[in-house]
Amino acid sequence: MRLILLGPPGAGKGTQAQRLVDKHGIVQLSTGDMLRAAAAAGTPVGRKAKAIMDRGELVPDDVMIEIISERLDRPDTSNGFILDGFPRTVAQAEALDKLLEYRGTTIDAILEITVDEKVLRDRIEGRAKETGGTRGDDKSTATRLEVYRRQTAPVADYYRKKGMLKQVDGMGSVEDVAALIDAHLRALAEA
Ligand code: AMP
Repeated sequence: MRLILLGPPGAGKGTQAQRLVDKHGIVQLSTGDMLRAAAAAGTPVGRKAKAIMDRGELVPDDVMIEIISERLDRPDTSNGFILDGFPRTVAQAEALDKLLEYRGTTIDAILEITVDEKVLRDRIEGRAKETGGTRGDDKSTATRLEVYRRQTAPVADYYRKKGMLKQVDGMGSVEDVAALIDAHLRALAEA
């Protein structure tokens, strides 16, 4: 199974992705995690990315497309994957279409987790407190939400126009949201 999880920062993408990984035996391709690992390792890309992430802005498309292209070529993706945090711009979505077409593969489901903005702010600020600020970018909540509205929300429209998008209400508990996602995936499998 190949999935894309969309949704603003704090919507619970990471939590749901991890659960789907365990349930379906697929790999989670979190571009945020990849960038944080590169930053921790102190690679040139990682160092540049860290400054951008700390400001709450987006790493350039060409860098992200290269990272995801290399990641898709690793053999552990052959059983399926869940993209978490990519694509984040329409240019990335278009590039992903080409990458998948070149590999002769398609996406099974694109799920957008929707949450009210006030709730998102509280969640992101709560996470910043819990982690003692280890995720430097949690400090830049306002920028991250603004970047989401401006650059990433159009990605949902891109897939909606193609008739591929399923919105999932992310306001409930982790279990509620999981149940909605599972119901949709079951319906797709039975269709
Ligand atoms: P995340 O963990 O998905 O919230 O990502 C953390 C940060 O990494 C984001 O705020 C961006 O600065 C950067 N990032 C992650 N994925 C992407 C992407 N697909 N395109 C551009 N920047 C990204």
